[in-house]
Amino acid sequence: MAAIVTLGDLRQSGYRSRPVKQEIRDNLVRKLQAGEALFPGIIGYDDTVVPQLVNAVLSRHNFILLGLRGQAKSRILRGLADLLDERIPVVPGCEIHDDPLAPLCASCRARIAMEGDALPIGWLHRDQRYVEKLATPDVTIADMVGDIDPIKAAEAGLNLSDELTMHYGLLPRANRGIFAINELPDLAGKIQVGLFNILQEGDVQIKGYPIRLKLDVMLVFTANPEDYTARGKIITPLKDRIGSEIRTHYPATRSHALAITRQEAWTDRTGALKVEIPDYVREVVEEIAFQARADRKIDKRSGVSQRLPISTLELVISNAERRALAQGEHVVVPRVTDIYAALPSITGKFELEYEGELRGAEQIARDLIRSAVGSVFTGIFDGVDTRTVIEWFDLGGSLPLSDSSSADEVITQTRGVQGLRDLAARAGLKPGATAPAVASAIDFVLEGLYAQKKISRSDERGYGAAEATPRRGQRREEVSLDEEIRMPGNKKKYYN
Ligand SMILES: [Zn+2]
Repeated sequence: MAAIVTLGDLRQSGYRSRPVKQEIRDNLVRKLQAGEALFPGIIGYDDTVVPQLVNAVLSRHNFILLGLRGQAKSRILRGLADLLDERIPVVPGCEIHDDPLAPLCASCRARIAMEGDALPIGWLHRDQRYVEKLATPDVTIADMVGDIDPIKAAEAGLNLSDELTMHYGLLPRANRGIFAINELPDLAGKIQVGLFNILQEGDVQIKGYPIRLKLDVMLVFTANPEDYTARGKIITPLKDRIGSEIRTHYPATRSHALAITRQEAWTDRTGALKVEIPDYVREVVEEIAFQARADRKIDKRSGVSQRLPISTLELVISNAERRALAQGEHVVVPRVTDIYAALPSITGKFELEYEGELRGAEQIARDLIRSAVGSVFTGIFDGVDTRTVIEWFDLGGSLPLSDSSSADEVITQTRGVQGLRDLAARAGLKPGATAPAVASAIDFVLEGLYAQKKISRSDERGYGAAEATPRRGQRREEVSLDEEIRMPGNKKKYYN
């Protein structure tokens, strides 16, 4: 390839140009034969989305990814560029990357007629062959396809319908490459018509002048499924040209979700402090997104992006980092209570239904965190006896702790709570764990009990006994063995 510098060299080399969809198909076939990984970095789609994508590419289809926000749609489309040849020959300086062996534009044809085999050629890298556009209602034909420049035409003394007078839009500039349009239904109907015409007929009318452009483009799109299927949003002939509709989805399991966040979140902080993220913190952060997606107060049509856990985890680490810096600690261990510091990220990641708006985004986010903690805590502490700790609070104990309390403060203050340290150890503490790690595990147990409503927590007083509600079943009987005195205000106190 390095030796091929002129059109003559290219002709002699026997190089054959292929339509872009054939090129992508050939490279995919080669990868499949070699057993190479497809779409690296895309997690959890191996059995669902990837097989459909492969089929679409093998069929040389234009296709659309239908999914909610934060389902890696753009990432998949960008990954298609890896299926292009590393470099292809082009006529240098041509805005539509003309093939030296089969040029489209008049200027390139004229150059080749004049220079012949001596014409120098360029090699275009695949990264420059992927063009992406977010559709909005104000995108025009000029943006998308191009415009006629009357001044250019007058200077050149050309007929207006000659494409030499054309100022190319995004689609012609994506010639011999991949053109991705995100949120296709937001594109105005007449732009969709223009797009269709150029694909189908190879010509389009601009300001009344017919322009001929036999472009070679693989077209890929994304859309929200509900917008896409809504009547009248996509013109039928264009829909007809989209060979495959592929549905994306959110991670099906917590382990897929954890893997995605692990890949995407910025956790390797470059500061002087070491960051250790306990597994239960990662799991709670992930569970918030699962809870949110199932919450009927949250709009299902817009979805809950996988970016929620990603940016939440980043803020959780930052809050822990801030505490460690303020307290002079040498290791950063995030706590479950640090998740509340990520509220500014969480509230921006979902749209509310009417019922949710009544409750307010911040309160909903707090509810989500609490139920996520409850779910993860129950998973780890299922069948574990937590009564001695709860009783300590029921006997009037309280712990004025917050997310700014130092690790030593947490450990010292909770030293008298019988059984708490043992429970903390169950959260996965390693022998010789650092003080911040121990404090984080203690925090998790307290937050877990709070999530299960076995103890209470307030911003002013910290942790205390649960609000007095009649206890059920076995617990009720045990309590009644003790001498029970009802205090004014319906608070219970027990004496041994
Ligand atoms: Zn050209």
